[in-house]
Amino acid sequence: MLKAIYPGSFDPVTNGHLDIIRRSAKIVDQLIVGVLNNNAKSPLFSVEERVNMLKEVTKDIENVKIVPFAGLLIEFAKEQGADLVIRGLRAITDFEYELQMSQTNHKLDSSIETMFLTTSIEYSYLSSTSVKEIAVFGGDVSQFVPKIVAVELEQKMK
Ligand code: ADP
Repeated sequence: MLKAIYPGSFDPVTNGHLDIIRRSAKIVDQLIVGVLNNNAKSPLFSVEERVNMLKEVTKDIENVKIVPFAGLLIEFAKEQGADLVIRGLRAITDFEYELQMSQTNHKLDSSIETMFLTTSIEYSYLSSTSVKEIAVFGGDVSQFVPKIVAVELEQKMK
C-alpha cells in the first residue's frame, strides 16, 4: 500500500492545490494532506479553518485524509507511516526551494522520497498569496478557489 503526504500551508486551499490532490489521489492508495500549523507564518486562516475547508472540498475523494501537523515534515511522515512526500511545482522559481527541501529531508531520513507533480497549465500562476491579495482589495476570487473558500475569504475580509 502506497501512502503519501502532501504537505503545505493551504492558506487557503486553491484550485491549484485541489488539482494536485486529485491527481495524486489517483496514483497512491492513501493521500494524507498535511496542514502545517506554523504561527510564525502568520496565516490568515487558523489551522482548524484550513483543515475544515480542505475536508469540505475533498469530501468526494475517498482515499484522502486531512491531518494538521507541526514540526518536522519527516517526523510527521514517519508518524503517519508514509512512503513519500508529494509537492507541486509551478515554475522555475519553485524549483530551487523545493530541491533544497527535498534533499534536506532525504538527508534527514533517506527512506522518505519526494515526488513532484508539475502544475496543470491553467493553475501555473495561482498561489494562496495572490488569492489573498485579490481578496483584500475586494476582487473576485471565484475562478481561483472552490466556492466555499471564496465565501470564507469574503467573510474574513469584512
Ligand atoms: P507552502 O507554504 O509549504 O509552500 P503551499 O500551501 O503554498 O505551501 O503549497 C503547498 C504545495 O502545493 C507546494 O508544493 C506548492 O508548490 C504546491 N502548489 C501551490 N499552488 C499550486 C498550483 N497552483 N499548482 C500546483 N501546485 C501548487
